[in-house]
Amino acid sequence: MATKSASQLSRGVKVLGRVTRMAFRHRARMAVAIGATLAAVTFQLFIPQLLGGSVDQAYELFQRGAGVDEARRALMLYAGLLFGASVLRGLFTMLHNYQGEAVGQHVGYELRLAIYRKVQELSFSYHDRVHSGDLVTRGMLDIEGVRLFVNTGIIRLCVLGVLLGVGSYLMVQANALLAVVALSFVPFVGWRAIVTRLRLRKSWHRLQSRLGVLTRIMEENLAGIRVVRAFSGEDYELGKFERGSRRALRLTLHRIGLQVRNGTAMSYGFFVAMGLVLLIGGRMTLAGAITIGVLAEFLAFMLILQMPVRQLGLLVNSFARATTSGERIFTVLDQEPEIRERPDAKELVVTEGRLRFESVSFAYEKDDDREHALENIDFELGPGETLGIVGPPGAGKSTIAHLIPRFYDVTSGRITIDGQDIRDVTLRSLRRAVGLIPQDSFIFTSRLDNNLAYGNPWADQAHIEWAAEVSQLHSYIQQLPEGYRTLVGERGVSLSGGQRQRLAIARMLVQQTPIMIFDDSTAAIDAGTEQQIREGLSSISHRHATIIIAHRLSSLMHADEILFVDDGRVLERGTHDELYAQGGRYRALYDLQSNPEAVSADGP
Ligand code: ADP
Repeated sequence: MATKSASQLSRGVKVLGRVTRMAFRHRARMAVAIGATLAAVTFQLFIPQLLGGSVDQAYELFQRGAGVDEARRALMLYAGLLFGASVLRGLFTMLHNYQGEAVGQHVGYELRLAIYRKVQELSFSYHDRVHSGDLVTRGMLDIEGVRLFVNTGIIRLCVLGVLLGVGSYLMVQANALLAVVALSFVPFVGWRAIVTRLRLRKSWHRLQSRLGVLTRIMEENLAGIRVVRAFSGEDYELGKFERGSRRALRLTLHRIGLQVRNGTAMSYGFFVAMGLVLLIGGRMTLAGAITIGVLAEFLAFMLILQMPVRQLGLLVNSFARATTSGERIFTVLDQEPEIRERPDAKELVVTEGRLRFESVSFAYEKDDDREHALENIDFELGPGETLGIVGPPGAGKSTIAHLIPRFYDVTSGRITIDGQDIRDVTLRSLRRAVGLIPQDSFIFTSRLDNNLAYGNPWADQAHIEWAAEVSQLHSYIQQLPEGYRTLVGERGVSLSGGQRQRLAIARMLVQQTPIMIFDDSTAAIDAGTEQQIREGLSSISHRHATIIIAHRLSSLMHADEILFVDDGRVLERGTHDELYAQGGRYRALYDLQSNPEAVSADGP
């Protein structure tokens, strides 16, 4: 138990140290912020001394029976000094507040960019495990927790540290015994701060995870809004969200309870010390051990400390939140992408465009040797050749496609392009050579031509139009009022499933990659249009190696080689005629698709 909290503490210190280092990278701003803090606190600390001095002087003038003019002159001087100290304190406070906040905003900006950059780099295996809603929460709410720490944590800690440090020195100089009484609240407050920080940290951790779940629910609801409406799932969805929100509310109330109780206990500790100063200091004044001015100085100091001590609760909360949020952010930032380039990775040199799978096996879970998604896959494919892959759902067809641009790395065996192992070349050069049209084509909220030129922003209009023509999309685009400049995506013209797939095909054609993979990307396109696309592609297909994954056999019957895959293994391979003659699974599928009634009549 003790070792657990010790390790938590050291982890927390490391996280806060890292945030603090990030803040101190803004040297000039931090120097101004801390300099202004010191100046503001120094001027603030003049105030009790000036007050004490003025009280002592007033008392002396009174005892001496000084004239009105003399008394006014003397007091005006103190009043002027007090006014000057207060104004300067205010100006420096404004400066440190601005600079502290500015550094916090810079740190937030840097972390936001770093997370976004990391999300672009992380491998698919990471995205398979971590929900995007959770990443969104980390990229927004957790950054807020860290950002606030700079001003409400680091700078406020400086204010409090200097106030207490210099104030203690001044008080000890004035009277050591009374100084001990005045500062008697410090150990109590310190103990409360440590205990509550740990509790608050746990509470923040639970709350941030819960908010991640809420973001996830909302994100899924919006993505699947059509399913929700079609199945009248609104009440169920609302209930799910309400339960999640209620849990978040309960956690927030618990945290606020902790924070308020702690703040109150700290304030009480402080007021007890203040009462003791009044009691003991009053007795010492009556006994003549200190002047009335010294007592006034002590009381003024306690009044100055009152505000920062009250804010201590916020300071502790800021530390707790930043530790939790920082840890959640740094866990993402420190994540090493599983798919990485070798330090000596070279550009892929495509001489011919020949793709080879050599005894490729693959499992999604590295340590799980039970579940191989692919086992011993071999094939070779050159330019002008087409490989068809067919098989039941879950057979491993898409997995084969995903290994080629290195979305995942093979578990054993190797994949080469023109003799170069794809793990030895840069990811950018590899992905420039491999065009993959996935099952679900994504459309960005942007103009049609921007969507088409996503992989090759320098493509000219003629090239874009050619790609759309081959994909049988050109005539549709032309009859839109704004043609290629039409806005599509979430807020634009909505495209049908078949149009989206055609757009995805055109997008790949604009990029012109030596290897083209169609991963079930014509399923929503009718057979006639597909035939037209295939004819359009035939003029360029001699330059490309093509892989077609499809359920409809007419999509791949023309292929030079067809693999029938099931359970991650190649069960049958050959041309359509060879497979047909074999009379195996491929033949059964062909018979089913070409004449389903005859097959069911023959069946048992
Ligand atoms: P197909 O394309 O033939 O329908 P897939 O290649 O998508 O099949 O899937 C092959 C197997 O791998 C299936 O059992 C599937 O559940 C599993 N699988 C697919 N994607 C993942 C993933 N990201 N993580 C874990 N398992 C996966």
